[in-house]
Amino acid sequence: MKRKNQQFINGQWMNSSSQDIIEVINPASEKVIGTIAKGTKDDVDKAVNAAKNVYLEFRNTSVKERQDMLNRIVEEYKKRKDDIVEVITEELGSPRELSEKTHYMKGLIHFSEARDALDDFSFQEKRGESLIIKESIGVTGLITPWNFPTNQTSVKLAAAFASGSPVILKPSVETPFSAIILAEIIESANLPKGAFNLVNGQGKVIGDALSSHQDVRMMSFTGSENAGRKIIQNSSQDFKRVSLELGGKSPYVILDDADIDKAAKSATKFVYDNTGQVCDAATRTLIPESIKDEFIQKSKQYMGSIRIGNPNQQNIDIGPLVNKSQFDIVQNYIKQGISEGATLVTGGLGKPKGLETGYYVKPTIFSDVNNDMTIAQEEIFGPVMSIITYKTIDEAIQIANDTKFGLCSYVMGTNKQKVQKVASSLESGNVIINDNGGTPDLPFGGYKQSGIGREWGDYGIEEFLETKVLKGYYFL
Ligand code: NAD
Repeated sequence: MKRKNQQFINGQWMNSSSQDIIEVINPASEKVIGTIAKGTKDDVDKAVNAAKNVYLEFRNTSVKERQDMLNRIVEEYKKRKDDIVEVITEELGSPRELSEKTHYMKGLIHFSEARDALDDFSFQEKRGESLIIKESIGVTGLITPWNFPTNQTSVKLAAAFASGSPVILKPSVETPFSAIILAEIIESANLPKGAFNLVNGQGKVIGDALSSHQDVRMMSFTGSENAGRKIIQNSSQDFKRVSLELGGKSPYVILDDADIDKAAKSATKFVYDNTGQVCDAATRTLIPESIKDEFIQKSKQYMGSIRIGNPNQQNIDIGPLVNKSQFDIVQNYIKQGISEGATLVTGGLGKPKGLETGYYVKPTIFSDVNNDMTIAQEEIFGPVMSIITYKTIDEAIQIANDTKFGLCSYVMGTNKQKVQKVASSLESGNVIINDNGGTPDLPFGGYKQSGIGREWGDYGIEEFLETKVLKGYYFL
């Protein structure tokens, strides 16, 4: 049983101003695995104060000093690999192999990437006789979700530290222990006191306190639309900068010249990965009428062969969903798909046989989906694929863009002109062409209601900077 009922404020672990705690549950066993502090506004005030006090010192560190800090974090992070893999497997229910190859690695990549991005990052520019400077925006609140715990915390922390911005991190109550390990890593990396603060607690309480605080200059949030809306509302009072990474309903446009087997394999993988709890999951699969039967048969085969089970077992593809509430949400969407007239190809309601304990769901495929159906419009956040057919490429583009989201899109095909036409017409921050994932220095973020701003690498650092012009600087 893990008990970490303290907050990390001003360089030390201290008791929360409340004795209240929050229980953390393992989604595979449904058992309590530990407790964390149920933080208060008072904790936030202390953390913001610590961050405010160190702001100028941290902002004025040299690029080399910040690179050294990031490097120390990278080295400490590597030492904690086993702990991170263990804790993510336990709190998220992610298969151990995924915890290591994806969750652990993403955190490491973001800290290394931010460190390396500083090599070429230009914080100053001479223009005429004036100097343009980019400098840290100030105290920043970071709020993160549970689905990629180390990815989302690390991507924000790495960019904030690279920019010299002191932060208060509030991670998800579902996956707080990976963030606590991160806090211990940062503690060992010896940053200026107050540059990093961790306040655990309920989203609304800590979120409101941070986004309403007059000394917080920016909120960087990843999570659901509703919480994002609340952050913007609070932040509008004093016009804080807001960076939001929200949901998605990504289309996967399969063209008629695509290799059907490859397409079905790729399309199903981008639905079930991380048990479908992925903001850029490709949950709407758009296929030409001409390949419908073969594509459905292949997708059914791939989805049906997924190994579901206890995250601690070997050779498991997916574990449970993160909690009971997420399980119920996914069940309701499956019910809705059936009642709105989509054809259930595989999966469906209930738990997979033999997995009655734990929040396991059946990877599900619907065909004959109309883009107006609820399952095609709303983010399900579970392994549910909706297959939609199209007649022409223009129709495919129209359907793909007919969504309030715009985080990511996918296209697969052989003809270069057709693929380029589709890729350039899709309204989303990322377009993945022929299953090519790109590199971690590329910007990530959404169009439309998928968010505001970009994260990762140099684009991520840019978010935490203000621009100042020193006019006549070179006349001195
Ligand atoms: P969530 O909004 O419920 O929670 C996210 C964080 O916000 C948590 O730390 C939570 O405690 C906090 N929170 C909750 N209510 C709040 C409030 N009123 N004010 C401030 N903070 C509040 O989201 P979730 O269920 O943890 O994550 C799933 C969502 O995150 C999905 O919609 C998914 O698409 C999105 N997501 C987006 C990206 C991206 O990069 N675009 C990445 C991952 C997840």
